[in-house]
Amino acid sequence: MEQLKFSKYNLLCQDENNEYLVYNTLTDHVQTLDEKDYLLFRNNNGERLCGIESAAKIEGWSAAGFVVDEGYEEWRKVEYEYGNIAYGDEELQLTILTTNACNFDCIYCYQKHLNSFMDSEGKEKILKYIGGKLKRNYKKLYVSWFGGEPLLTKKLIIEMSKEMKRMARENKVAYYSQMTTNGYELDLDTFTELIEANVLSYSITLDGVKEIHNKQRPHKNDNDSYETIMRNLTDISKNVTTGRFSIDVRVNLSLQGVEHFFEFANEFKKLFGNDKRFHLVPEPVKDWAGPRIDLVKDRVLTNAGVIYSLYEQLENMKADVTNFYNFQRISHICVAPLKNGYILDWNGNVHKCGMDVFRDEFYEKNVIGKIDNYGKMEIDEHKELGLITRDIEKYHCMDCVLYPKCLGIHCVHATRIVNSPECPFYDELYEFAAMSAKLKTLRMRRKEK
Ligand code: SF4
Ligand code: SF4
Repeated sequence: MEQLKFSKYNLLCQDENNEYLVYNTLTDHVQTLDEKDYLLFRNNNGERLCGIESAAKIEGWSAAGFVVDEGYEEWRKVEYEYGNIAYGDEELQLTILTTNACNFDCIYCYQKHLNSFMDSEGKEKILKYIGGKLKRNYKKLYVSWFGGEPLLTKKLIIEMSKEMKRMARENKVAYYSQMTTNGYELDLDTFTELIEANVLSYSITLDGVKEIHNKQRPHKNDNDSYETIMRNLTDISKNVTTGRFSIDVRVNLSLQGVEHFFEFANEFKKLFGNDKRFHLVPEPVKDWAGPRIDLVKDRVLTNAGVIYSLYEQLENMKADVTNFYNFQRISHICVAPLKNGYILDWNGNVHKCGMDVFRDEFYEKNVIGKIDNYGKMEIDEHKELGLITRDIEKYHCMDCVLYPKCLGIHCVHATRIVNSPECPFYDELYEFAAMSAKLKTLRMRRKEK
């Protein structure tokens, strides 16, 4: 047998009972350790394994990926996965912003709402671009609708989606679509038409109980948007029979919202607990920058442990309303570093980082081209390459315990646009990964009972 070493990707933590856990971020295995083994792991990360007599123990650790052959370079597996995702040519991923206007005035919003809308010319040129691409290059088309509030342009989105579905079918390309919306305009008729046009996955933000939601996310003309959104969601749950869609209800929790979270979770469980198409996603209100955040700095949740304890309590109350997969994924790659990923705005400008679309100071660096009236994407290739290729050495990602989870993230904003000297994600992702390990253990124990 080849000499073994400890994996570089063993994350060590303690659960709420002070039991030691080892979580391998590459294989996703988690296991409890006694104190002696915990210290052994802690003091020998990435080092040669020696002095362990129990063959059964070594076999178990090896099967879980906690120890690996000495010559095995685990980072290559991650690098390969990143390469497939970032530089693969099978899929065209587009985020389309049909407007920067919004019907809400959320207190933490980082966007500037200037009431620009995509017109029919804009719609036609984007459809021409997609039509041309589907004829030649791709096997899959993924479209994400974002804004502003995308459903302020619902007629346009439904028309575009129907046409994309038709073009995809004609060219034998798989097509699926997602929308991030506040849900206010998502009445049953609109939802039915969107589902028909393959818009199947939704992220809807509802900030907990009525009083908090209506204060934190005020509608511009309706002081009780909570009622309308809840009505839309219950109408969908009761009347739409297909299982093809999923709705994540994202709850942005401020310091003030946390204490009322379970009132909302119980209501959610009552209404959607038996509907597996609906999931509850608690998230902290973060400092997303922008013009308003200074006014609400005291509401920002900086302690990720609070969110963990919410998931833990949901797990203990067997609510079954969370999407555990979402939680485990820890971080995802946005379209910015993708070779075939673009953000198209209402004017047909091509952006990379979605957050920087609304920040004037980064506009020049972030916009790499434009779609012309003939549907041709004119891109500054040199600028694009400068943004999407990465320097993996910059944050020493290959040696970071989180590398298999975040894949070296390559946040174009951090590494290229503002050139952050240190990884801005490590602390938060580390806490998230430790939470994931603890929740996995909790769930395993629950199943064993
Ligand atoms: S981006 Fe940050 S958290 Fe991710 S692997 Fe690199 S250093 Fe670690
Ligand atoms: S800030 Fe980074 S991770 Fe977020 S959208 Fe921009 S490039 Fe992607």
